[in-house]
Amino acid sequence: MLLRGFLFATALVLTLSAEWPRPALAETDEPVPVILISVDTLRADHLSCYGYTRLQTFHIDSLARGGTLFAQTSSQVPITLPSHVSLFTSTYPFANGIRENAQVLPPGAVTLATILAGRGYRTAAFIGGYFLARRYGLAQGFQTYDSPFDQRVLKGALELKRPARQVLESAEHWLAENSARPFFLFVHLFDLHQPYDAPTAYKARAPTSEYDQELAYADDSLGTFFDSLARLGLLRRALVVLLSDHGEGLGDHGETTHGYFVYRSTLQVPLIFHWPEAGGNRNPQPENQDAARGPSSDLRVSDAGDYVRRVDAPTGLIDVAPTILSFLRVPAPASFCGHSLLDPAKRRDSPPREVYSESSYAHDKFGWAELRSLRYGDYQYIDAPRPELYDLQTDPAELQNLLPGQTALATSYRERLAGLVATYHAVPTGAESAAPTDADSRESLRSLGYLEITAPGAALGNSGIDPKDRLFEYKRYLLAGHLARTGKPEEAAAEFQAILAGDPRNLPARIEMARADVALHRYLDGANQLHAALALDPHNVEAEELLGDIALTTGDYGRAAAEFQQLLGFASRDYEAHFGLGLVAVRRGRRDEAAEHFHAALAANPRSAEAHYQLGLILESQKEKDQAIREFATALQLDPQSQDARRELAKVTSPSP
Ligand SMILES: [Zn+2]
Repeated sequence: MLLRGFLFATALVLTLSAEWPRPALAETDEPVPVILISVDTLRADHLSCYGYTRLQTFHIDSLARGGTLFAQTSSQVPITLPSHVSLFTSTYPFANGIRENAQVLPPGAVTLATILAGRGYRTAAFIGGYFLARRYGLAQGFQTYDSPFDQRVLKGALELKRPARQVLESAEHWLAENSARPFFLFVHLFDLHQPYDAPTAYKARAPTSEYDQELAYADDSLGTFFDSLARLGLLRRALVVLLSDHGEGLGDHGETTHGYFVYRSTLQVPLIFHWPEAGGNRNPQPENQDAARGPSSDLRVSDAGDYVRRVDAPTGLIDVAPTILSFLRVPAPASFCGHSLLDPAKRRDSPPREVYSESSYAHDKFGWAELRSLRYGDYQYIDAPRPELYDLQTDPAELQNLLPGQTALATSYRERLAGLVATYHAVPTGAESAAPTDADSRESLRSLGYLEITAPGAALGNSGIDPKDRLFEYKRYLLAGHLARTGKPEEAAAEFQAILAGDPRNLPARIEMARADVALHRYLDGANQLHAALALDPHNVEAEELLGDIALTTGDYGRAAAEFQQLLGFASRDYEAHFGLGLVAVRRGRRDEAAEHFHAALAANPRSAEAHYQLGLILESQKEKDQAIREFATALQLDPQSQDARRELAKVTSPSP
């Protein structure tokens, strides 16, 4: 809702900087093709071109050799969808409202893709991971958006990603047909995101790190892709940008994955611009020439149009879209909040940049405090109930919190941070339109280890709990979730119980405890947990859905109907509620009423195989043979594994005895 207002309002207001840089490609008027590669979950410091020594990433390094490497680039939010939304819209998460996975970028957003499509570029995206599936709204502006997760029935987590080679082959096929005209290609590789599944051949490249095995595989896959770019002449003609949406904790600060904290391990990402030949690095300068500290190490574009090899000044992913547009001499829309990294005049005299990052994951998930950070000069400040300040020059791993010693310095950072938020916080946040909507989506996230966000933050108020004080509880929660998903409900229940003993207000743990109880057929215990959850958050959709399901399972249809009706009172389009009410009506022999609810369920989730199947059964019993066949066939198409739909379809299509 917020984003719509924010981006719509500015969609048509284009600004052109008075000090717009000299055209980068003066020699030609042919628009430069753009290839943007996002290697999801890639820590900058695991690339050999960023100094890593345990693995050689030859192919990504080769891109850096022919371009400019930004050594200090921060993600604005270490979570996949929000980070890509920030990248494509050049807006901050607190302003655009997309702060978690499974939210939806509303239609009408102004993104790099919509702008270039508007300029006559052919646009295509090839997506490696489910978080960027078409349904989440990033497809806007792309004429081709290849995210095959939409059509597939999602079973295991591994199906939520497709290997780099597959993604890149699809992109190569598209390029073979489309690279003669100006184009914008976006490629998303998801291999480094857990769960790991690198081809066996890569075990030897990095025997002790599955993460590095995936990286070696992704790098090799990119090597093949770069070869095909070279064959098409695109390494000379195109602007190629490689980056990541966030890093990975890998144990730093106790964080295994990403999203919970805002330390460098998950914020610092690679950013490499490989310039096309005409405007490119014809006269490359030696490595590390610009590695000195301070403003003198800012990006400098020489008068000859050449680019430095390395930029050590802090930058953000939010700057990438403005940089690409300024390189193409396309005016940036007023909604863009980042700065072009090509603008030498502006940067030469300007003070060091403020780079903002945030995570509201712990807040949205558990009701704990939000984390916000500001990178400025040598220091990284983290705004939290117990704030942190690090001197990255002497302590890049952020191990020595300078607080409470450096109070005055910290105060100046807190004020800067507040100033930045106030400047870009166009309208109050409240992205109610962006909540996850369907059951299918929630199941998918659960299988990747992201139990869905139920936003207890709003229900529980601001607890003021510092996420770093709850790290143990958070990790225990992740472990319990893993146990639950891998068929160990007994062990999972024990872990959830332990969490709740220490923190009775942990709403997600309470709901997951109820799920474990249900898996163990302890229905009364499960219902009690859910009543406790609803006492904390009376409009908790998930708790209410589960209560209805428990009543259905135990044959208490009156109670089931009451729970689902209660749910419709605050979530009128809820799929589970309508589907559950449909089942209750079936059990009570009320076929017309049941059909109504299944249709309403399909309105909420058109890809529900089970709703089509239930409608088929009703039509079959009403002797509406043709319509029944259509429903069963649709169910089977949506879920080819459905034995029920297959059996009924065979039955209804077989000749009558
Ligand atoms: Zn990601």
